[in-house]
Amino acid sequence: MLLESGASAVGFARAGEVEPSAVSAFERWLSRGDAGELAYMRNYPELRRDPRLLLEGCRTVVSIAWLYNPPRLRPATLPYLARYAYSRDYHNALRSVLKPVAREIASRYGAQWRICIDSAPVMERYWAVKSGVGFCGRSGLLIVPGVGSRVFLTELLLTIELPPDNPCTLTCGDCGACVRACPSGALQASASPDCRRCISALTIELPGSARHLPRPTLAGCDLCQDVCPHNAGNARTQLAALQTLPHLLTVDETELRALSDEQFRARYAGTPLMRIGREGLLANLSVISVDSSAGRESR
Ligand code: SF4
Ligand code: SF4
Repeated sequence: MLLESGASAVGFARAGEVEPSAVSAFERWLSRGDAGELAYMRNYPELRRDPRLLLEGCRTVVSIAWLYNPPRLRPATLPYLARYAYSRDYHNALRSVLKPVAREIASRYGAQWRICIDSAPVMERYWAVKSGVGFCGRSGLLIVPGVGSRVFLTELLLTIELPPDNPCTLTCGDCGACVRACPSGALQASASPDCRRCISALTIELPGSARHLPRPTLAGCDLCQDVCPHNAGNARTQLAALQTLPHLLTVDETELRALSDEQFRARYAGTPLMRIGREGLLANLSVISVDSSAGRESR
């Protein structure tokens, strides 16, 4: 049902406590301060450790990956915008796809359900690995074999028991391409990114604060994904809910300066740009970028 609705990969895991080794790794990441501005990652640790606390009677965690890689990219002459941000805000877009499926399951099997799209404290990569959807890459991203890392992860919690899939046991081996490509050193220390350095995190959470920008940037980075061999197949999304919005292919500094805040809101309502705001996007553009390949500075 989920694959028919456009999901790229789906897996089932039995709901229960997260394994202690995964909890410890997460807590070490927090205690190092690597969450940076993502303060919400510290919230609700008990709920994060057990999805059964998020839905009474929960017995199955369904992990679902959705390819977002857009069919067409912005011209390289324009400032960079992360590929995930070419469509309407994925939280709403994917909820609109998942809700009818959840309702169908509920009516067929009499199950209770809860959809999680960054809307509840769930260790989403842990559950994606456990349900066989993919493995955690050195980039800190989930990699879906045959699809790549340009995916959104969502979870559907169900009160019915479904046969669990085998966990994904693949690893990155000795690749390390993302660590070498990361311009800010965000991947140097551990297997999860240091969000105090990650350009992607900073341009969203603290606009204007990112350093070592490889190119003029509205928001995002993606360099660790660009070099990942699992993205070499370059699969592109076919999902209508994540279709590229034409004005996100062309937005640039000239346009942002010409728009009033009200006009900006009217034009970009429901898109990922609203989270950063017009001022935030301009703050990101004001950061001097370093063209690392040529060793020169540019705007
Ligand atoms: S998004 Fe960019 S800055 Fe962040 S880890 Fe990847 S390459 Fe490094
Ligand atoms: S670039 Fe290499 S090391 Fe990094 S996530 Fe991809 S496969 Fe793993």
